[in-house]
Amino acid sequence: MTAAQTGEKAFAGIEPLLAMIRASEKHYDVEKLERAYLYAKSLHEGQFRVSGEPYISHPVAVAEIVASLGLDTDSICAAFLHDTVEDCPEKTSVEIIRNRFGEDVAMLVDGLTKMKAINVEDKEEANIENIRKMLLAMSKDIRVIFIKLCDRLHNMRTLGVKPEAKRRATALETMHVYAPLAHRLGMQRIKQELENLALSYLDPIGYAEVSNDIERKYGQNQNFIENTRAYVAEKLEEYGIHFTLEGRVKTVYSIYRKMFNQNKSFDEIYDFYAIRIIVNTELECYTALGIIHELFKSIPGRFKDYISTPKPNMYQSLHTTVIGRDGIPFEVQIRTREMHQVAEFGIAAHWKYKSGVGSKEEIDKKLAWISKLIDAENSATDTEDFMQALKIDIFSDETFVFTPKGDVIALPQNSTLIDFAYAIHSQIGNRMVGAKINGMIAPIDRVPQTGDIVEILTSSASKGPSRDWLKIVKTSEARAKIRQWFKKEKRPENIKIGQAEVERLLSKYRVKPNEAQTEEIVSAAAHKLGMADVEDLYNSIGYGGVAMTKVTTKLRQEYERVVKPDENAVVTETDQIQTGHLKKRGTGGIIVDGEYGCEVKFARCCNPLPGDDVIGFVTKGFGISIHKKDCPNAVAGMSKPEQADRWLRAEWDVEEFTGAAKPMYEVGLQIYAENDIRLLSNITTALADMKVTLLGINTKKRTETDIIILLTVGCKNIDHYNSILSRLRSVPHVERIERGSM
Ligand code: MN
Repeated sequence: MTAAQTGEKAFAGIEPLLAMIRASEKHYDVEKLERAYLYAKSLHEGQFRVSGEPYISHPVAVAEIVASLGLDTDSICAAFLHDTVEDCPEKTSVEIIRNRFGEDVAMLVDGLTKMKAINVEDKEEANIENIRKMLLAMSKDIRVIFIKLCDRLHNMRTLGVKPEAKRRATALETMHVYAPLAHRLGMQRIKQELENLALSYLDPIGYAEVSNDIERKYGQNQNFIENTRAYVAEKLEEYGIHFTLEGRVKTVYSIYRKMFNQNKSFDEIYDFYAIRIIVNTELECYTALGIIHELFKSIPGRFKDYISTPKPNMYQSLHTTVIGRDGIPFEVQIRTREMHQVAEFGIAAHWKYKSGVGSKEEIDKKLAWISKLIDAENSATDTEDFMQALKIDIFSDETFVFTPKGDVIALPQNSTLIDFAYAIHSQIGNRMVGAKINGMIAPIDRVPQTGDIVEILTSSASKGPSRDWLKIVKTSEARAKIRQWFKKEKRPENIKIGQAEVERLLSKYRVKPNEAQTEEIVSAAAHKLGMADVEDLYNSIGYGGVAMTKVTTKLRQEYERVVKPDENAVVTETDQIQTGHLKKRGTGGIIVDGEYGCEVKFARCCNPLPGDDVIGFVTKGFGISIHKKDCPNAVAGMSKPEQADRWLRAEWDVEEFTGAAKPMYEVGLQIYAENDIRLLSNITTALADMKVTLLGINTKKRTETDIIILLTVGCKNIDHYNSILSRLRSVPHVERIERGSM
């Protein structure tokens, strides 16, 4: 422990602080600082810390840390005064401080005092209250949090003199509340020191062991990081890059945690070393990266570009892990000086460089996502809920995902794209039909990673969320919104829609099933589709909870079984393509809604001829009546809402008349390919070139580098299919293509 940690250092007043700010280039109101110090000193007169030092030594130490972060005069004044209102209520108040030092100092002191106001025995409750106050304060002025963290850091440095129980409680609170906050604000140095100190109180033996191991290992390989640095420096110089090179070794706490979490021994920690290259420009970052990858073998999957995609706390850097001499891996971080300032001192670094109202607004804007947490408070009705919300949002690791506009959405770990959609807006979730991660189509149950840019694809034609989503989503927010949607939707209405749809499908068969047959077909199909009963099937069809292709297929299968048991049971459309000939049922050369073999008759009112645009109408008992599209009866009928379901797309089976264009069938393709940024667009371009209708697209990750793209396309016949196949095989990175659906 250093002298500062044990509190042995003699109290030197504010001379060291004044020397520090004089050395800085920033302007400070020294007169105001001295006044604040003297006022705080007079208020704390006669008070002593447990260590025996005069109490004022603590606020002064806090003020020094605050000043070292580059915070302004008012922040340093507030640091001097942060304990006065609580400790000396008979002598001062926020009002008095406002009169003496102005609105800002008073507001900061008030925020800091309120954070301490709750001090109950129930530890959990107290923590939650503190956090709530902190977050509230933070949303008003982030400086309150900075000062609070400096206060906590000094308390942790001097915690050794406190009784064991107090040490433990404070260390736990630091670990669970303050270190994560510092981390979230990007204040790495403060976070690391808080963690190391907390660990040293919580597990003194483990802390000592790891510390000793570090000594041992660093001693053993001291030359490694030195040699590596020298070697890298030499190479960078050859390229004329101006740089600073740092070597770093993992902290005691981060090693301890890695050993504990991954059940590793100290000697199994391989990313112990890291070097950091700090350059002037972004371009030089990438140049330096190229040089590093030329000098050393890189470990696949370890490269991270936080420059193009900064972390939500504004951290920017390039990370890669390479193998050094003697096979020792080490991490390389490359960033610019400005990025480095942000990495080391967090958002406070911006404060250091900029002044005026603008900088405060800029910081507030950057931290707007933090205030999103405050919203959780509004939706929570009791403390238990709020506690739960905080546990998810603060204590667990989170994923931070970008919207295409660059907004940051914080999601609990393992949240899916559906959670993301609902986190933006319930209407986005309810209309979600797909999603893209970093521009690539991704299944909606995919778990996005921090830094991913996620775009939700919506359609007003979407039938809304599926019940299955309830099993997929991770956040209670999304689950609640989906349930709410179902609640709003009326089951009877769903059933009506579903029933009409099934009747419509059945009416298209040439031989219409009778009532008993219909009942048997539908209930068997419902059962095979995993539905409880026919109503359940209708309801599911109604709200879009079951894929219509499945329903169509099952109905067709059951129809074949029940109505025509003697004929060869199932002829699916893909089978037809595979065998190269289309099964015709020769009924007037009309295809209704993509189906052959419908019983049709030609409407007397317009007598359509081959080549006319036509449309089908489902009659009651006489099959489908074919009208010209511009037939007045058809035009009038189609505008009636109650007939909407009964008008069907119809077309001539042109082949029968001209042998030219053939009808389209859905066919699935599984494309095995090496993942490449241009892959998807090359494939869609190829399809567009051939005027192939793209009906569906999905991707599945196979390995780190390989993916499967599942396409559903419109295809006329086997020749057409083969031509699509050979064209797609010529797309770069495509390895092989198989038939098959999603
Ligand atoms: Mn304090």
